[in-house]
Amino acid sequence: MNEALKSAKRALKEGEVPIGAVVVYQDKVVSRGYNRRTKLQLASAHAEMTAIDKACKKFHSWRLPEGCELFVTLEPCPMCMGACLNARVDKIYFGAYEQKGRSLTLAIAEANLLNHKTEVIGGVREAQCSGILTYFFSSMRQKQKEEKERKKAELSALVEEDENGK
Ligand SMILES: [Zn+2]
Repeated sequence: MNEALKSAKRALKEGEVPIGAVVVYQDKVVSRGYNRRTKLQLASAHAEMTAIDKACKKFHSWRLPEGCELFVTLEPCPMCMGACLNARVDKIYFGAYEQKGRSLTLAIAEANLLNHKTEVIGGVREAQCSGILTYFFSSMRQKQKEEKERKKAELSALVEEDENGK
């Protein structure tokens, strides 16, 4: 999960929601991904999708070898769960739980879609994984607040100028 957190930090540096993922095979990281949705303006540019795509390329196969595991800092969305099943990921470890509590993670993992079941373990290094997200969203709110105040100050300076000009 440390490696997934490193990837999440790369997303943070790029101003993206910090989510990172890695695919691990035989205790080795075979691919990494981080959220790049804003930069690429792609709805599918999730950390898990990138990591899985890269792993498939590495193994020259859409079906990952038995025993592949995915580590991701946030509970996967249904699209990424679908990608895990399609690539036959055997085990998923995630860090932070999806806040809204509306995730379908376990339901999808256990539905035996595609005749493949994926084991899911949540809450791995949860504090660090959710901490980086909290940090991102609170600093984003702070920036928005500062921007709002700056605009307000600009506006009142304009009004003053106008009044002085009369
Ligand atoms: Zn996703």
